[in-house]
Amino acid sequence: MPQSELTARRRESGAADVGGRVFNFSPGPAVLPLEVLREAQEHLLSLPGVGISVLEISHRSPAFDRILADTLSGLKSLLAVPDTHDILFVQGGASLQFSMVPMNLLRGRKEPADFVVSGTWGGLALKEARREGPVHVAWDGESNKYDRLPSDEELKLSEASSFVHITSNETIQGVQWRREPAVGDRPLVCDCSSDFLSRPIDVSRYGLIYACAQKNAGIAGVTAVIIRKDLLSRSGDTLPTMLDYRTHAKNESRANTPPVFAVYILGLVCRWLSGTIGGLSRMEEINREKASLLYDVIDRSAGFYSGHARPEFRSAMNVTFRLPDENLEKRFVAEAAKRKLVDLKGHRSVGGIRASIYNAMPREGVEALRDFMLEFQRAGG
Ligand SMILES: *Cc1c(COP(=O)(O)O)cnc(C)c1O
Repeated sequence: MPQSELTARRRESGAADVGGRVFNFSPGPAVLPLEVLREAQEHLLSLPGVGISVLEISHRSPAFDRILADTLSGLKSLLAVPDTHDILFVQGGASLQFSMVPMNLLRGRKEPADFVVSGTWGGLALKEARREGPVHVAWDGESNKYDRLPSDEELKLSEASSFVHITSNETIQGVQWRREPAVGDRPLVCDCSSDFLSRPIDVSRYGLIYACAQKNAGIAGVTAVIIRKDLLSRSGDTLPTMLDYRTHAKNESRANTPPVFAVYILGLVCRWLSGTIGGLSRMEEINREKASLLYDVIDRSAGFYSGHARPEFRSAMNVTFRLPDENLEKRFVAEAAKRKLVDLKGHRSVGGIRASIYNAMPREGVEALRDFMLEFQRAGG
């Protein structure tokens, strides 16, 4: 490729200004790789060799057979999913998994499910599990406003538990696990919604991983569930058919009409991650670098910006911080938007600022935000 074209492509990866685009710091649905949007746009009228849009094809067609197989193999190879685990695509978002997980893995059992409540999402998962069976809170970070995660010594796990539930990245508070907690041979269940595909994970350590796609991996409509096959036998026969993991496993995620377009986009994102990015280890490096650009500004601001999470638990995905007062925060959000840095307002339940810098947020966007933060502080807010 000639140098000029390379430069042009690289510039385009910055995303702002292409087609009037801004830098989108939304927590989800969130920014997608420009390359994925371009490909979807190019093939929207007609898939090559098919002559039909992906929006129109039958989920039983050979064209969709290929899309589904590509998406599955893309995920399998990116995450090195072992043969002990099945990958399922379901609908209803991560929120439905708050119910499906305990319906399938807890209903009718005596051993409680242990929950590590590290933020808003972990709390919501616990609330739904209570409806299905005995639960036990192994740790709750509420007294510290969810600014940290527990050490292994702090975790109060049950002697025998049906599973242990964690949230790998708390999207609202901005705290992220760097390693799995020690849970012995209890099945570890993880809501990975907001850091899925942002870094490698050792899938063999998990009984079940679930993640909605619209944060890091694609668009709303599809949720990936990666389940250790032996756990499929726990589901009882009282479950509604579509809420039983076995239904999705037996029918290769096509028991009914799957979200065809969302599966297609997830497949394109997988291809972007393995091809353009070069895999999840590289993605993790890029994400860490992006996050440190912002955390450095926070740490050097002499308290003008105060980060919510304690440094060891800071999320590489959602950078949460406060300014000296709420008026300044409002002005910060408004002035940033004038510079095409949008959706920086923190979640309504916690306030402050949240910059979501998922996989597809280009480094240029984070640099633009960093420069704005420095300038905003210099100007005295
Ligand atoms: C966004 C999010 C959810 C909810 O996802 P839906 O698809 O909207 O149900 C759950 N858990 C975490 C960690 C999230 O970030």
